[in-house]
Amino acid sequence: RKPVEFVRGNGVKLFDSEGMQYLDFLSGIGVVSVGHCNPQVTQAVHEQADKLLHVSNYYYVEHRGEVAERISWMLSGGVEATGDDVWQTFFANSGAEANEGAIKLARRWGHEHLDGAYGILTAKRSFHGRTLATLAATAQDAKQDPFAPLPAGFGRVELNNIEELEAALDTPIDGTMPCALMLEPVQGESGVWPCTQEYLEAAREMTRERNMLLIFDEVQTGFCRTGNYFAFQGFSVEPDIVSMAKGIANGLPMGGFAAKRPLASLMQPGMHGTTFGGGPLACAASEATLAQMCEPGFLERVQVAGEYLRSQLERLSFVTDVRGRGLMCGVTLAEPVASQVVAAGLEKGLVLNAPAADILRFLPPLVVTQLDVDILIANLPSCYEAALQAQ
Ligand code: PLP
Repeated sequence: RKPVEFVRGNGVKLFDSEGMQYLDFLSGIGVVSVGHCNPQVTQAVHEQADKLLHVSNYYYVEHRGEVAERISWMLSGGVEATGDDVWQTFFANSGAEANEGAIKLARRWGHEHLDGAYGILTAKRSFHGRTLATLAATAQDAKQDPFAPLPAGFGRVELNNIEELEAALDTPIDGTMPCALMLEPVQGESGVWPCTQEYLEAAREMTRERNMLLIFDEVQTGFCRTGNYFAFQGFSVEPDIVSMAKGIANGLPMGGFAAKRPLASLMQPGMHGTTFGGGPLACAASEATLAQMCEPGFLERVQVAGEYLRSQLERLSFVTDVRGRGLMCGVTLAEPVASQVVAAGLEKGLVLNAPAADILRFLPPLVVTQLDVDILIANLPSCYEAALQAQ
């Protein structure tokens, strides 16, 4: 762990136990979407804690239906869907659990419509979680090998390679055909690697032709992170299942997976469940968080801030590549000193992140200002210099 204990936060700012102030360009890992100690979220959590913390999922609770309705609205691009176009969400507690549910729903589809096929294709360098099934979906040897053998039926394809994908969709994995392709529209944990427009369009077309499902893991990209409610809207490519978590409740543990009604109905009562998922406290926090995201101008502010961040990063001489959308941004450094830059940043009051030796990733709270970005950019060159010295 880094030698800092954070005790307080406010918007983009964090404070440690010694009273030092930091600017947070990581926000958990893309979690604290509307800022630390956001007043509306704090008030909603207080009020709910005073009323009711938990009852079993046999009953309705306040806020859950409202959050599900809001998510359907956001997934529909800011309009109210009706009938079979309504998105239904199952609430879980984390991104991995959300993906477990998405995988289970895809298997239900395979049972019902594809002669029991249960294969799931994912992209190399993906990250889908650390439970056994989501680890099997996480196509990275270093993360999988210590826990082998993993559940069967998960295959890998090269990201953005359309030809390889086409062949893989027609090839058995562990003796079963694929029933779904699962992708992050922008890969997060491995260093911010966006899917290309052509790739996502081809993925949609090819899965549809084969009656297979397209799952988007929007755990990191969802909830305005990329400048759209969900990243798929920026590509105009709609998946069948969307998993989500991180920014959904501004820091309370919560996740979910959503599908439109006809597909969602393959999950019959008793097939899937959770003790804590969709509890009143998390839903109260989520309702207050999502309400702010749906206010007019919120998405536009994320887009403008994201463009400003990328334009400023591009001007740095030691940055060789700038990637991402909205406020999900990754840069490649000229030298593999990213973790040293993170250490130097911490000393200067910047919370940074290095997902790879030569990559910095920026996931600030979505309320980050130009002034915050200016402070980051003013300090990064000296952090890089210090990193080269420390190398
Ligand atoms: N999927 C993606 C795209 C993620 O980025 C993450 C976490 O970083 C996960 C799944 C797993 O989420 P969690 O850590 O909440 O289980």
